[in-house]
Amino acid sequence: MKSIPESLRALVGQAVRRIDTPALVIDLDAMERNIERMARFAQQHGVLWRPHAKLHKSAHIALLLEQAGACGHCVQKVAEAEALAEGGVNNLFISNEIVSPAKLERVARLAKTLDGRGGRLALAVDSTEGVARLAQAMQDAQAGHGAIDVLVEINVGQNRCGVEPGTAAVELARAIRAQPRLHFAGLQAYHGGAQHLRRASERREAIAQVLKLVNRTRHEFDAAGIALPLITGAGTGTMVNEAASGVYGEIQPGSFLFMDADYATNEHDPAQPVFEHALYVKTQVISVGQGRAVCDAGHKAHAIDSGLPRLHALPPEQALRFENGGDEHGVLHPANTSGWLPALGETLWLIPGHCDPTVNLHDHLIGVRGGRLKGVVERIFTVDGRGALT
Ligand code: PLP
Ligand code: MN
Repeated sequence: MKSIPESLRALVGQAVRRIDTPALVIDLDAMERNIERMARFAQQHGVLWRPHAKLHKSAHIALLLEQAGACGHCVQKVAEAEALAEGGVNNLFISNEIVSPAKLERVARLAKTLDGRGGRLALAVDSTEGVARLAQAMQDAQAGHGAIDVLVEINVGQNRCGVEPGTAAVELARAIRAQPRLHFAGLQAYHGGAQHLRRASERREAIAQVLKLVNRTRHEFDAAGIALPLITGAGTGTMVNEAASGVYGEIQPGSFLFMDADYATNEHDPAQPVFEHALYVKTQVISVGQGRAVCDAGHKAHAIDSGLPRLHALPPEQALRFENGGDEHGVLHPANTSGWLPALGETLWLIPGHCDPTVNLHDHLIGVRGGRLKGVVERIFTVDGRGALT
């Protein structure tokens, strides 16, 4: 686990205004409401939830989610899995293809470790070569029989990884089942491209197409007499549809925990719980003049791949437009004719455009209780998997 420097540790119990900028801050009350709503949603729909930890990359947050009922966690990288496992997380699914022998050696070692402590590691595959390499690594590590869960990823429309739905998936499942150290655990069927379709009806239609492909594949498995233990997938944008399908046994949303500005632009689906923004970049104004104010948060403090951050909770007459000011600066312009600008030293709260890569820019998440203005710092989380790219 990463350590927390003394300067940050000393903040615990202090007023929120003592947090220096730029800093990544979690509104714990909002985050906990998001967790409760997700737990209730999953229970009502009879699905497991395995939140995607590529969002928060923090073992302690993963453990909080488990306490609320999450069945485990998804990660995208071996190094993320290692970081969370080191922090005490026992049930991990690498929802991605891993083919390099060096990484597979680490996968096999981690599978053995988690198996040994009553946990579980799972991995997605989309090639017979990938299966053969994983089996070899498991054998080299002398892992026990069935010591890793392997899910066949099918391409359900994102056109990224995944085999064609249907017979190709059955063939791959056969290859997995032929390997004693691998356990065939089901299908990974995730459509990333559908998550940010703006209208709820567009997302519903996209997942209806996904379901056709999933069902075709299920029928092929039935015909081959191979049991399908689980179908997993879904993100925050589409989860209502997969959860209601009666086919998905598990959903994988990550962003629901923090909710970014991009997701806030999606039309709300009435079937979806209301998830609140819970992650902010606290910034302050370091320069004012010539009709603009400049704050100390640039794109080294927040990711801009899904658009620039939004200013949080300013009254309409104080509306500001955030302009990219480079690595370390944000340029703020009055967004209406009032011409209002914040004063030098004033604090502002930014809602990141995209939370996952924003968290990856920070070593710590500062958890505050009682609101961004009057609250106190309650705890500091380490971003254990920061930069965990391999
Ligand atoms: N599952 C997989 C495989 C993903 O790649 C992602 C995100 O990209 C998610 C789940 C979670 O999606 P979101 O953070 O949009 O809820
Ligand atoms: Mn994301």
